[in-house]
Amino acid sequence: MDNFILRAPTKYIFGRETEKSAGQQLKDFGAKNVLIVYGGGSVIKSGLLDRVRLSIDEAGINHMEIGGIKPNPTDDQVYKGIDLVRSHGIDFLLAVGGGSVIDTAKGIACGAPYEGDFWDFYCGKKIVDKALPVGVVLTIPAAGSEGSGNSVITKRDGLIKLSLRTESALRPKFAIMNPELTFTLPPYQTACGIVDMMAHIFERYFTNTPDCQVTDRVAEGLLTAIMEEAPKVIAKPNDYQARANIMWCGTLAHNGLCGTGRVEDWASHFMEHELSAIYDVAHGAGLAVVNPAWMTYVATKNPDKILQFAIRVMKVNDEGMSQEDIIREGISRLKEFYISIGMPVTLSQLGIENPDLDRLVNKLHEHKGNPIGNYVRLTPDDTRLIYEMMA
Ligand code: NAP
Ligand code: FE
Repeated sequence: MDNFILRAPTKYIFGRETEKSAGQQLKDFGAKNVLIVYGGGSVIKSGLLDRVRLSIDEAGINHMEIGGIKPNPTDDQVYKGIDLVRSHGIDFLLAVGGGSVIDTAKGIACGAPYEGDFWDFYCGKKIVDKALPVGVVLTIPAAGSEGSGNSVITKRDGLIKLSLRTESALRPKFAIMNPELTFTLPPYQTACGIVDMMAHIFERYFTNTPDCQVTDRVAEGLLTAIMEEAPKVIAKPNDYQARANIMWCGTLAHNGLCGTGRVEDWASHFMEHELSAIYDVAHGAGLAVVNPAWMTYVATKNPDKILQFAIRVMKVNDEGMSQEDIIREGISRLKEFYISIGMPVTLSQLGIENPDLDRLVNKLHEHKGNPIGNYVRLTPDDTRLIYEMMA
């Protein structure tokens, strides 16, 4: 196990009707003038936005809004929000939605106090040392942004999707998590979220750092719980306990816990970000295609952890089988699981019939470096082969 620092100070307010405390939470954190950030309308339809507004009114706090944030959020919305913050003296951002809304709020939060272009933080030119506080009312368990210091934004010019990682500057001050708010999720979005949270664990589980038994077991426990609860939320969208378990898994998958004491990978996320940037597919659906292909490829070069995953998580009985067969069976069971929750496992099922491999590989390594990943260091020749395996 390597040395590590974990600072995860987000306050979680979890359970039924907790959105009613939004105003009180904002007050406790000293907010006076709040910008509410929301998405394409699900929070209007469900009445959540009205309940949040009422709660903030009752706390006597000023608020205004920016809506219409799209999945795979883009820089234009961030610039718009920065202008609003500056012209209205906003001192707190409240994201009401999922990863796209939260990440936009975080982009606004670090961009508004900064004199230069907020994109400097995302392309690695500058490090965030000052940001407005962000609070969250979560509506979809998926990205884990409610408990992470990260934000992912796409620059429209060149379709460059980059993630900004901060240790604590962009971690939300609080996250309100009411599982009932996720009852209205379409099954496809529920499944995308499930795949994304599993992928956040994979990026940390597949490591060469030895002697991380505790972190391994935490990761394996979360993966097992997600796969046990997933069929329940797909079959019965208003199963409160299953929704609650999935919601909490999404946070624990990405708040840093599963990466403690070890080197993380992230090559699969980088490869997916090119797919969702160019083809505008849902991030989780893209990962359902990338993850099995990545596992199959890296297992030929570094099988140990993939083997452990097949045995411990996918429960392949290892007696009398070759290592290669155990791995093949483990990955095959993962694909079957994705298919069972309605996810694609090939690019054509994802709606990408003729992937532009040159563009995907060139963009990937231009912006993410060469090689990428750590479990196996991947060059453009490797990533091209992995994209080809997704056909
Ligand atoms: P999302 O893009 O925020 O939302 C996906 C869709 O779900 C939207 O159409 C949204 O509709 C709908 N929706 C959300 N809550 C709903 C509800 N309760 N009922 C009905 N519909 C609902 O999804 P996400 O997966 O959380 O975020 C994806 C983004 O996060 C991607 O850009 C991904 O790259 C990024 N990401 C970030 C991190 C991080 O650490 N920051 C990590 C992984 C991924 P409305 O717009 O109408 O609300
Ligand atoms: Fe993700």
